[in-house]
Amino acid sequence: MAVDADDLQGILIGGPSPTKEEFMEGGFLHHELQHKVIGALDVSYTDESGLFELVDAAQDKLLDLELTQYKVIMRRFMKELVSDKGLAAYGEAEVRHNLKLGAVETLLLSEDLRKTRTKIECTNRSCDFSESQTRTSSSAPLGSCLKCGSSLAVVGEEDIVSDLSKLADKSGAEVKIISTEFEEGAQLFKAFGGIAAILRYKTSHI
Ligand code: ZN
Repeated sequence: MAVDADDLQGILIGGPSPTKEEFMEGGFLHHELQHKVIGALDVSYTDESGLFELVDAAQDKLLDLELTQYKVIMRRFMKELVSDKGLAAYGEAEVRHNLKLGAVETLLLSEDLRKTRTKIECTNRSCDFSESQTRTSSSAPLGSCLKCGSSLAVVGEEDIVSDLSKLADKSGAEVKIISTEFEEGAQLFKAFGGIAAILRYKTSHI
């Protein structure tokens, strides 16, 4: 069987008892695959409907697996944060800076982030002022142009998760959208503004 063990996240075995136990203990799986077994579930059918039954029964197991992965990655971030290797960054400005440098290995974004990256331009045609701002539904009004005092207009908007994910893609950084349903995940949102990164190498702070 040609399986890239790195891409395989886990194996669930389903079947009637005691067949599935016999299978698991029978040494039928390559030892690398054996490590990936995350559970065995009771399924009463042995035909295709058993497969659907297994997927149904597996939902909870898979959610657990996902949560475990979030926990592992968040603990790695927290460890980097206190380590003198300096391979952690947080806050939008710092993380954006590192993304542009191509220094981000893993981008951590909270699933509760509700921000928009907004492109703003001056409405005065003879003025070239433009900038990007990160805004929320409670941000102050746009105000007037810093250069000429004319009014400003929004010319483009993108959800911040998609904006930062695009930057991450450019340098091959992995993106993880982290649930707030566990302690470190809630911390990412509350203490780090929902935006953090594990870095490939140490960079200078901005
Ligand atoms: Zn202007």
